[in-house]
Amino acid sequence: MGTIKLSREALKNNLDIITHQVGGKDKIAVVLKDNAYGHGAVLIAQAARDYGITHAVVRLEREALEISEFFEDILILSDFPTVVNPKFHYVVNSLCYLKKFLKGTKVELKMDTGMHRNGVRIDELKKAFDAIAAQGLECVGVMSHLKSADTLSSEWFWQRYAFDTLKKDALKFGQKYQWNLRFHLSNSAGIFRSSECSDDMVRVGIALYGCLQMDISLPNPQLQSVLSLWGDKISTRTLRAGERVGYNGLYEASYDEVVSTYDLGYANGLDRLASNHYVTPNGVALLGRISMDCATFASDEHELLIFDNANEYAKAVGTIGYEILACLDKDLKREWVD
Ligand SMILES: *Cc1c(COP(=O)(O)O)cnc(C)c1O
Repeated sequence: MGTIKLSREALKNNLDIITHQVGGKDKIAVVLKDNAYGHGAVLIAQAARDYGITHAVVRLEREALEISEFFEDILILSDFPTVVNPKFHYVVNSLCYLKKFLKGTKVELKMDTGMHRNGVRIDELKKAFDAIAAQGLECVGVMSHLKSADTLSSEWFWQRYAFDTLKKDALKFGQKYQWNLRFHLSNSAGIFRSSECSDDMVRVGIALYGCLQMDISLPNPQLQSVLSLWGDKISTRTLRAGERVGYNGLYEASYDEVVSTYDLGYANGLDRLASNHYVTPNGVALLGRISMDCATFASDEHELLIFDNANEYAKAVGTIGYEILACLDKDLKREWVD
């Protein structure tokens, strides 16, 4: 199967930029959900810990268990506890499932500041705190999520304002239960919208991996892509002029042409919509349909670079780098190259 190569230099470059932007490593929570956006959760967790990061964010408890040794606390975005682990903080996305949280677990309350996806309405903050306390849970944080920090609009300002306002109420209501609350709002794009970070923490995913894309009129930090995807050659042949390659013979050689098939297909995350039109960063054309486990390129290299920035592949299939990264096959080999 193909190989994912990871650059420590790029990761360090990105962490340096993020640290500088938010004013300290202790404010950074690295988002490692979905296998660290395809990079490999344990590899990135280790590297982030070595850099001095102490907070992490995942989606599931299962993911938190995999990396728990590396961090002081792990925020679990969308799951219910089966264990009470003092390191794990579970997000309360809605009051209707509060009974599913085991007594004694630490939770953080998600507030809806305008995205209207998950979270409790601002006018229900007090009610939420009382319900959390009644369920025997300890609330250790209040958070929200930005809906359009990467685009030039006033949305960011309104959500920032709403969060700053509810912070004051949360501190007041939380006193009753002697909760020590932390506050966090920003994702990657959010941290680059302001030169000062007024929250206790930020949740950084895509910027860590070097694939943040902001509107061109917004700050675009010099982040570097951490991940590149490589295919290993399975076979080579010379197509005679007029021969066609792969399912339905979508590509036809117009002259005698050397082509090779590599061991990556749509089952490994190579989105099939790139069939017959994608060109690699080194100018190598993808020929014909992408199969489940392989794809043919105009090359005879043993090891072929498919992409070194997920945003480029994403462009070829009409999606975003996040989706390309998150869909990379868990079973692909992953290795550091520097
Ligand atoms: C995925 C996620 C993040 C990270 O977003 P990026 O844009 O990748 O930085 C932050 N917060 C929440 C709640 C998320 O689900």
